[in-house]
Amino acid sequence: MCAVSSPYPQYVVAKFGGTSVADFDAMNHCADIILANADVRVVVLSASAGVTNLLVTLATGCDSNKRERCLKQIRDIQYAIIDRLNDVGVICEEIDRLLENIEMLSEAASLATSEALTDELVSHGEVMSTLLFVELLRQRNANTNAEWFDIRRIMRTNDHFGRAEPDTLQLHISAVEHLQPRLNNTVVITQGFIGREEKGRTTTLGRGGSDYTAALLGEALNLQRVDIWTDVPGIYTTDPRVAPTAKRIDKIAFDEAAEMATFGAKILHPATLLPAVRCGIPVFVGSSKDPQAGGTLVCDKTENPPLFRALALRRKQTLLTLHSLKMLHARGFLVEVFTLLLRHNISVDLITTSEVSVALTLDTTGSTSTNGSLLTNALLTELSTLCRVEVEEDLALVAIIGNELSQAKGLGKEIFGTLESFNIRMISYGASSHNVCLLVPGKDAESVIQKLHQNLFKV
Ligand code: ADP
Ligand code: ASP
Ligand code: MG
Repeated sequence: MCAVSSPYPQYVVAKFGGTSVADFDAMNHCADIILANADVRVVVLSASAGVTNLLVTLATGCDSNKRERCLKQIRDIQYAIIDRLNDVGVICEEIDRLLENIEMLSEAASLATSEALTDELVSHGEVMSTLLFVELLRQRNANTNAEWFDIRRIMRTNDHFGRAEPDTLQLHISAVEHLQPRLNNTVVITQGFIGREEKGRTTTLGRGGSDYTAALLGEALNLQRVDIWTDVPGIYTTDPRVAPTAKRIDKIAFDEAAEMATFGAKILHPATLLPAVRCGIPVFVGSSKDPQAGGTLVCDKTENPPLFRALALRRKQTLLTLHSLKMLHARGFLVEVFTLLLRHNISVDLITTSEVSVALTLDTTGSTSTNGSLLTNALLTELSTLCRVEVEEDLALVAIIGNELSQAKGLGKEIFGTLESFNIRMISYGASSHNVCLLVPGKDAESVIQKLHQNLFKV
């Protein structure tokens, strides 16, 4: 929901990810960025790096030894920050209270887990990092009017715990009422990733969801730009950790970046660009440790979009092959399969068909907070009543992202010639002119990316 006009069109929302708020020094880099730009009025934070993973472990239920270990690790991460603050009285009490809460909730989770309990527990990471950051910012500059704001006051979602969807109209109304009036003389520090459903229970938007929160707030308040500060200075032609020769893309169009995010480039949560596109708000991606290095601007259009833009990798893919003689010269088999998948709230990602079988991968985009498998026993049992089911795991999806790929000549030779020494389990091409997708064994994924990158990007 795009605000018609904004009283503060020059203001910016800045999001800092887990590594950017991992410790005291990292948080100080974020403070530098905020203090250097008076237009940054909304700040969205992730939990300090490692905390969400530890909270997820606690939420899945563990024995008392493991629980103690996880609790200590969380406490150590947060106390390493507290110990370097000057005045620790009140913040200590607040963090201690939250740590006690975490302990209590994780004891409850060891008796019986639930999705609602998981989200409540996991949300503590963002609550703690934002409280600590407000304190740090105030201590850095007494003139900064930094205010802690509980995003759950305005981020109304449905009750799909672990992967909740925000109500954008409600968010717009509440943000204008509760957040907008604060922006004139305040820097609002708030949590990414978390929200609240109708009954008041905490929800989460799926792993990596803080990017999405920032974009949703940019849209709700119709701000000038969304800045995503992370641990790399921009969006690269592929994950620079996988292919160190990857090059930064200085400017990229919304649809290209959205394809990258959808197909697994972790740099942006897959839903991040939806609000930005709806409102035409540019998104900047840069490194909080090295803001001088510049970054990537994601915007409406770019000049001369290249044939090959980037490579993305999505791991842990599951391929289902469904065999049924019922398919032969018959109608309606796919309807039955898709109806069943719909009942299990699963959408299909890649798909190929033959005379008596259909192969498909399950869409893991925006996976849940616990990264739980979509392929449940209940689903398999029901599918087995329709057909013979073969399951292959440990596959990886490699997406070649570009422009007008379906019009290009010689694409097959270029791609498959490069990959002649690899087994390619499945290919998806033609539905979109923006991508060619390959399913490869998980163990080969990085080599496939490196080989393709070397050849398609000539580095
Ligand atoms: P944050 O905690 O700040 O949200 P993430 O770990 O979620 O950060 O995302 C940043 C990481 O995304 C980088 O460290 C990098 O390894 C990975 N990444 C994946 N694909 C790309 C890409 N195309 N360009 C840059 N980084 C990428
Ligand atoms: N803290 C959450 C996570 O680790 C959300 C985020 O970092 O964006 O997934
Ligand atoms: Mg992230």
